[in-house]
Amino acid sequence: MMRAMAMLDRLRRRWRGELAKRGARVPAPLALDRPTLSVTFDDFLATAAETGAAVLEAAGVRGSFYVNGGTIGGRGELGPSGDAALLRAVHAAGHEIGCHSFSHADLFRLDAAGIGAEMDRNAAWLEAQLGERPRSFAYPYGRAPLRAKRAAMARYRAARSVQPGLNEGEIDLAYIRAVPLESVRRDRELLARFVEEAVRRRAWLVLYTHDVQPDPGPYGVTPADLDWVVRAALAAGCAVRPLGEVVAGP
Ligand SMILES: [Zn+2]
Repeated sequence: MMRAMAMLDRLRRRWRGELAKRGARVPAPLALDRPTLSVTFDDFLATAAETGAAVLEAAGVRGSFYVNGGTIGGRGELGPSGDAALLRAVHAAGHEIGCHSFSHADLFRLDAAGIGAEMDRNAAWLEAQLGERPRSFAYPYGRAPLRAKRAAMARYRAARSVQPGLNEGEIDLAYIRAVPLESVRRDRELLARFVEEAVRRRAWLVLYTHDVQPDPGPYGVTPADLDWVVRAALAAGCAVRPLGEVVAGP
């Protein structure tokens, strides 16, 4: 019984994913002068804000951090998050700070007004901390009902999903594709192939992860693997830029 329920739930999620992929699209041509990599960190975990940011900075590049004002300085399932002082430091170092809803809400459980309120409360909180509003959004849990795509695009230039794949040609700004960085631990070759394909097709590869530490959780990455993928992309001729910068235009 449990198994059937779990399967049903998985099917339902897949179907919702399909729906989100197809509906409420905001198509835009992606015109890049170079293949491009964006590295994104969800939930502003302390290890990502400290070690992850430092790894990127040592390679001379910057990433995007998707932050929930309501969980800043707290401790979630994936470890302690950074505090407001660390957030300001990461922002001052040139990384993009994006919106991830205020409370890390499951957007499927909220109506359109509730989703908008989560986004607006977080944007206001971030603006109070940083003096500027976020430009891009990442769906909490990667889950996006169509009303969330619409709400995001009424407020942000782009929203990142967790649909794996490269972004190329006519992309959906409301559903930017992203590859989980944790897969590098199981299969470095797979990530290498994504980088190669991005270079060959002059496409945009977006990666996402959570904690960055030598013994990461199931959704995190080691500093060595993060460093490896960034340097592989740079060596292959990629630009490495924050997500919000890539969609901001030339
Ligand atoms: Zn998250």
